[in-house]
Amino acid sequence: MSIITRFAPSPTGRLHVGNARTALFCALYAKANGGQFMLRLDDTDAERSTEAFAQGIIEDLAWLGLPHDLTAKQSDRFDAYDEAFEKLKDMGLVYACYETPDELDLKRKRQRARGKPPVYDRAALELSDDEKAKLEAEGRTPHWRFKLSGNKVSWQDLVRGDQLVDTSSLSDPVLVRADGTYLYTLPSVVDDLDFNITHIIRGEDHVTNSAAQIELIMALAGQDAIIPVFAHHPLLVMADGSALSKRLGSLSLESLREDGIDPMSINSLIARLGTPDPVETHSDMAALIAGFDLTRLGRAPARFDPAELQRLNVKLLQHLPFERVADKLSHLGVTYEDEQAGMLFWDTVKGNIDRLEDAVGLWQIIQGPVESVIDAEDRDYLDMALACLPAEPWDETSWSSWTSELKQSTGRKGKELFMPLRKAMTGQSHGPEMKNLLLLIGPTHVKNRLEG
Ligand code: GLU
Repeated sequence: MSIITRFAPSPTGRLHVGNARTALFCALYAKANGGQFMLRLDDTDAERSTEAFAQGIIEDLAWLGLPHDLTAKQSDRFDAYDEAFEKLKDMGLVYACYETPDELDLKRKRQRARGKPPVYDRAALELSDDEKAKLEAEGRTPHWRFKLSGNKVSWQDLVRGDQLVDTSSLSDPVLVRADGTYLYTLPSVVDDLDFNITHIIRGEDHVTNSAAQIELIMALAGQDAIIPVFAHHPLLVMADGSALSKRLGSLSLESLREDGIDPMSINSLIARLGTPDPVETHSDMAALIAGFDLTRLGRAPARFDPAELQRLNVKLLQHLPFERVADKLSHLGVTYEDEQAGMLFWDTVKGNIDRLEDAVGLWQIIQGPVESVIDAEDRDYLDMALACLPAEPWDETSWSSWTSELKQSTGRKGKELFMPLRKAMTGQSHGPEMKNLLLLIGPTHVKNRLEG
């Protein structure tokens, strides 16, 4: 059977690095096994889900380099959910409940006060038809719960190993709210079945859901149903252990993108966090896929440090070949005479930038206008430098022949020799290698700047 994984966000916000990590695991697992990766939009909550968020999620995934092979949208599938719900009703596996949220809350408080776990007491199962009719006459509409078997459910989790959940310790999950809308559980199971999902990879906050979902799968597809393989990964937390939340704007992919973080820096980091493996910078997916193994994930929460991402991004930039950045640079307004000039520019600046956008500032130094910085006591020295500029056309030896000659004729060396040239030619006292800058700035600008 060919492998199909799914990433199932609710379009009620944009993706952050934590969601991205789940998406990455789903995509990498599918790709590593020659399978397919589905994006499922869990948009049954009509009030909070928006088309703009759905589009944003699709954009975020494409930007990360995790295009999906298949798409589904839960709001298109209510007929399938209704059918499954009717089937469960016919089998007597769902029951109507009439408690209000306040009443349920009170029950839980009483249970806690008596030292008991706050598990739904199934009082609604005892209601007679007359009592139900009376409650409905009072204007109450039922919500519907799925009747768990009370047996133990086990599965072999790809991350957590052997799992055993005693469903008698769980509340029967509500499948349908009093207003007739579906909660997440039933649609998710129906979709996983209908789309032949083979692997459910998601955060460990869903572990207990899985027990109820396995019982639902068997109720709907039969006791012999093929249960998808589950992999529940520990969640991503901040370096100090605090939780990441969907609303943490600065960790949204959108804002990381605006901050100039390369998607492969994010992928390289989140693919390895929580494993004993070192984080390496990969500039393409193939290497990440090759080294991907879900079973390497440990059980402790994976810690995310934005500063680590920044460092990785710098490292990645330094390793990216010109072809990988050419388009982005031209979007930023960095243009050159020919590809060779572009390559020279990239080789020259990549070691001096933290984000691609920083290349623009260096580009402006090359293009000008630049305000030369010339100290009065260096005027004569710069005049000598002008007089012995190397013969044109310049090449990669021009800088060293020029400065050797200056060294001989002036006796200057080190900083004294180089700094006045740098400050005059770039207006700055630090920056990329002068050998390349000389070529990029070119004779006309160099002469003007040395003159001041
Ligand atoms: N929409 C659910 C969530 O975002 C999906 C969970 C799952 O993968 O089943 O938590």
